[in-house]
Amino acid sequence: MFISCSGEKTILAVPEQGSAIIGGYWTPDSGRVKGPVQLKWEEGRVSSLCPYSDHRGRSKSSGEEDFAWQPYLLMPGFIDSHVHLALDSIDFYQCLENWHNPALMEKVIQDNLRRYLESGVVAVRDGGDLPGFAWSAKKRLEREEWQGPRVVSVREAVARQGMYGRFLGRGFSSLQDWHRIKEDFFRQGADQLKIVVTGIISFSQYRQVGTVQWSVEELKELTASAHARGILVMAHASGEEGISRVIEAGVDSIEHGYYMTSRHLRQMKAQGIAWVPTVAPIGNLLKYPTGRYSEQEIATLSEILKGHLSRIKEASDFGVRLGVGTDAGAYSVPHGSSFLDEMLWLREAGIPEEKVYCLATQENARICGLPEYGKLEVGTPLNCLQLKEL
Ligand SMILES: [Zn+2]
Repeated sequence: MFISCSGEKTILAVPEQGSAIIGGYWTPDSGRVKGPVQLKWEEGRVSSLCPYSDHRGRSKSSGEEDFAWQPYLLMPGFIDSHVHLALDSIDFYQCLENWHNPALMEKVIQDNLRRYLESGVVAVRDGGDLPGFAWSAKKRLEREEWQGPRVVSVREAVARQGMYGRFLGRGFSSLQDWHRIKEDFFRQGADQLKIVVTGIISFSQYRQVGTVQWSVEELKELTASAHARGILVMAHASGEEGISRVIEAGVDSIEHGYYMTSRHLRQMKAQGIAWVPTVAPIGNLLKYPTGRYSEQEIATLSEILKGHLSRIKEASDFGVRLGVGTDAGAYSVPHGSSFLDEMLWLREAGIPEEKVYCLATQENARICGLPEYGKLEVGTPLNCLQLKEL
């Protein structure tokens, strides 16, 4: 088995049973605990975590050596709650061409999966792709043919035919169309249901967002069909109208949510709806300039970013459930490394580091429906954890 070692940007092979001396640990409940601490594990799961003092003459049991992990802090692995494994963050249109070459795609995805683990990200939630590359990656990981984070996948998203999202799913022309196909849709596999509710935001016109694709009644039915199967609903929605509709429909998480309002936050708090604000796809365009965007677009993006960050801080202060998701695969949002960008954007919004860690682990585990992840306690599998630099 393995443990993610983000401290060295690597993945360490470890036996099913063993022990290590660590520099300290961090959990969402205890905060940071200084070491040295002795970690023991059995059958791949944490069995004890005790203060360590290296007494002279201390007898070692059966010649077993502790791993020397003093430079590291043991903590729950991060979870990226919004990625697209089938996109490459470099060239969207070239990437769609590459979809016709599955061998190439598999290689790219395998490399990206390794990058996640090297960055301390032990689970990701994938927001879908039409051919189902993320879903098949998930299956290969489950069969242990590949090494990488746990993948929670929607497989294919539900969008209105002819509107934004044709690379995310086949598209449905109407709700009747959906009802006719939904059994097959769920049968092919889905860990969550992703609904594309609005188009993307304009980079040149402030407040302009792509068309809202579904009515409140339609969204309620889509949501009910997922909830009836015990799965969560993630809704891609930006702009006043789109966000208002998904809140009324009672989805579980709102993805992106650009142009969120204070009124939305109050409603989301009351209903326990989570927000995954994906700052990196706009923030990174400003942080890593490329010359791809005009001055006017840069000015608009800056204005969007400013409003978005202050709304995120408001959400955090108000106690709205917040997730950390990058939208990795989008332009300038590379798989793995962009998770650090996203956490830094939340810091930039004014959320303290400890709280960002809680969101990136505990809250994201809840959003992704992964009860074993986002914590560090007796019984936690080692591959749900990471060794971070102290
Ligand atoms: Zn997405």
